[in-house]
Amino acid sequence: MVSHGAAAASTRPNVVGMRPDDLHIDTIAVHTGRDDLAALGVHALPIDLSTTNPLPDIEHGGDSYESMATGGRPLPDGGMVYARLWNPTVARFEKALAELEGAETAVAFASGMAATTAMILAHTGTTGTRHIVAVRPLYGGTDHLLESNLLGTATTYCEQDEVGASIRDDTALVVIETPANPTLDLVDIAAVVAQAGDVPVVVDNTFATPVLQNPIALGATMSLHSATKYIGGHGDVIAGVIACDEATATRLRSVRAITGAILHPLGAYLLHRGLATLPLRIRAQQENARRIAEWLGTQSAVRQVYYPGVDGDPRGIIGRQMRGTGAMLAIGLHGGYAAASELTSKVRLFEHAVSLGGVDSLIQHPAALTHRPVPPEVRPSAEVVRLSIGIENVDDLVADLAQALG
Ligand SMILES: *Cc1c(COP(=O)(O)O)cnc(C)c1O
Repeated sequence: MVSHGAAAASTRPNVVGMRPDDLHIDTIAVHTGRDDLAALGVHALPIDLSTTNPLPDIEHGGDSYESMATGGRPLPDGGMVYARLWNPTVARFEKALAELEGAETAVAFASGMAATTAMILAHTGTTGTRHIVAVRPLYGGTDHLLESNLLGTATTYCEQDEVGASIRDDTALVVIETPANPTLDLVDIAAVVAQAGDVPVVVDNTFATPVLQNPIALGATMSLHSATKYIGGHGDVIAGVIACDEATATRLRSVRAITGAILHPLGAYLLHRGLATLPLRIRAQQENARRIAEWLGTQSAVRQVYYPGVDGDPRGIIGRQMRGTGAMLAIGLHGGYAAASELTSKVRLFEHAVSLGGVDSLIQHPAALTHRPVPPEVRPSAEVVRLSIGIENVDDLVADLAQALG
């Protein structure tokens, strides 16, 4: 049974009037963010599509507008005004995600990259401190955003043990990702937080999901997700979400309102609906991934398997920081780029496509695709292929890889 650690449970708000300590994550996932539904007289999640909302009067409407434009919530007697500022379907999903993460609140965005952009602007835009410390590897898009200096930031890249030494007086943010895309490198969140001191740490938690890892309980300021991946789980929503404290959320919502990066309510509905099966999906996908990682380790065409724990877990992260090993893996092929190209074109059940985390299995070549913008000297090797394992029958998946490798 997957359940939250004590640290996460203690910060978790009530779910349907029960004591959170009595509940497992499977139960929370089904009921979370639904406590206002009975009062609305409905059972399923409603979808609010209004772009604009009736104003009570100029004064109250104006006050509510100002509250939201500066990152606050709608005022009870002022209304929601305009859906770029606030949407109830989005807010309900945010509440649910925050509860799963053991965080005070959450802020949802139109994509993972919109979330990352708002997160960087919220920490560098107004403070005058524009230095970021980051540990590679990172998702290719995140790497691209930092490396391009598009947002006027300067980034120092370092190993996870060098974060403390890399922080300057003007450092605004520490950016880490664990397990990291694409080679599943594990970063010790608590150790990085300890080195960061007062500097906020953001953890890209996309690969682990709240089911396997809760960065906030380990001291991180923000847990960021490309909700496009496991949280959506069905390959039909582009979205991002950041779990955090209310003060951080206020800054994030203000940037979101000003730059127009809010998630669409239809996406929020699908994500919230999908949360109910998130623990179930992660367990099934992880079980398949473990079996496939093991099998791949016995194949002569495979030079190396990248999967959490295969290196013996020298930092002791599995069990302490992560409640499992997840469902992403990568392999290095003896035949290099040519072998990678052959494998990705020969699979039949695995789809050759970027993205990850869905119920269906995907395979892709990071160096050519997701990590193409990363500078060549730190780009994943051309022999590396990344696999996202779905919920299909594991024997069928192994048979597909066997015919494609053989
Ligand atoms: C996909 C991804 C992102 C970017 O998210 P989008 O929803 O595609 O904008 C960020 N981080 C990780 C780890 C990802 O896999």
